[in-house]
Amino acid sequence: MTVYNHLARHVLAPTLDIIRGTHTMRCLHELEESQWYPPQAIGELQSRRLQQTIGHAYEHVPYYRRVFDERGLPPTSILEACDLSKLPVLTKELVRANLQDLIADNYPRGRLITSRTSGSTGNPLVFYRTHEDWFTTGRARGLLAMEWADVYMGDRVATYREVFVRPTRKERLLEPIIRHFQRTYTLGIEGVSRETLPETVETISRVHPRAIAAYPSTLALLAQHIRDSGVPAPSVHSILTGGEQILEHQRALIREVLGKEPFSRYGSNENSLLGTECEQHSGFHMFAQDLVIEIVDDAGTPVPPGHEGHVIVTNLHDRGMPFIRYDTGDLGAWATAPCPCGRGMPLLSSLVGRSCDIILTPSGKRVPGNALRMAQMGLLGVSGLQIVQEQLDAVRVSLVLPYRASDDDMKGIREGVEGILHRDLGDDMRIDITFVDRIEPTPAGKHVPVVSKLTGSERARQQG
Ligand SMILES: [Zn+2]
Repeated sequence: MTVYNHLARHVLAPTLDIIRGTHTMRCLHELEESQWYPPQAIGELQSRRLQQTIGHAYEHVPYYRRVFDERGLPPTSILEACDLSKLPVLTKELVRANLQDLIADNYPRGRLITSRTSGSTGNPLVFYRTHEDWFTTGRARGLLAMEWADVYMGDRVATYREVFVRPTRKERLLEPIIRHFQRTYTLGIEGVSRETLPETVETISRVHPRAIAAYPSTLALLAQHIRDSGVPAPSVHSILTGGEQILEHQRALIREVLGKEPFSRYGSNENSLLGTECEQHSGFHMFAQDLVIEIVDDAGTPVPPGHEGHVIVTNLHDRGMPFIRYDTGDLGAWATAPCPCGRGMPLLSSLVGRSCDIILTPSGKRVPGNALRMAQMGLLGVSGLQIVQEQLDAVRVSLVLPYRASDDDMKGIREGVEGILHRDLGDDMRIDITFVDRIEPTPAGKHVPVVSKLTGSERARQQG
């Protein structure tokens, strides 16, 4: 660690805590210790915080008071994580329908931060967060995740993500100062295109960051460009991905070209960082100190390790709009064996796919986007692809080729992709393929490879 790392950690960050009125450094210190607790001790810490959260929700949040009273449950009936299945899952629809009733009556309204999910389905969800949850505990989790990737406060990080809009006036005033001292270098997101990639590679080489943090799809695009053009790859110590799941072929491409195994992080706008990979890259260690993560079936009942289910989150620090058993819309499975690293935080072995990115088939199958054999399509010579389902019996596939292909090449690739998708989705699925120059990112800058635009009622009718 450099002198600047020490300065950033022991002088600048504590000063920022005082200016902001946050306790990020205290929380980071606590996480640095508790990550090594045995699972039982983490469970005890979690239970204490859960009981406080439930007590607060019952006393001060009209929605939860109603949920408990309707079921004849006293708040003391929830003592540990396994008791949570007595309560219903909080869906995005329930949040929309009960937005005001989900706000604690003792929390100053003026201190709530309006937030929203971007959502690849184009149907954003508005909700409220608190400064404490976002900038204290949420940020501390982010800093610990960086440490696992051997990146410390004060290290230069080049980020390829959208420019983060600070949510309060004070934060906006602090923005340039924070950026200067954090030594974050933003590469911008609007410019992710084949034309600007050469300049981006040059910039990274010149800025010489210790780490790059970006969406995996963006990094894969960058790696593809470096490999195809033959320019020297910039040397970076660590690679962090987040904002979307990293697909196996993206991971392999990034590893091959940039020479580092990416550290994938799993988070959401609603609850900040939920889990992150350690140096073993064996799955996501979930932050059970700050959150209760459950993996449940369609009825909301927890499923055993190794079985895929919905990822449900209870936030143990948000006192403004507590999310209890919130359905993230993601699917995952607990690992069947502990991580060799020795950390006690529970391990999510796989994140199967955002459920909005699941393709439904006419025959009733639900195929997660990640289960489609995109790596095989990559082997056919496809450098970019997007699969969009707008109706039950058809998907629209956009393919990008890294070169000017002949008609014969395109015919071969078209038949190859059709063959793969018919095997994955069934012969009764119509596959409409078009070749395009580029795949446009979502408004938030994400490259979402599989998008379902089926409405909720279409999905329900098909599943019913
Ligand atoms: Zn581990």
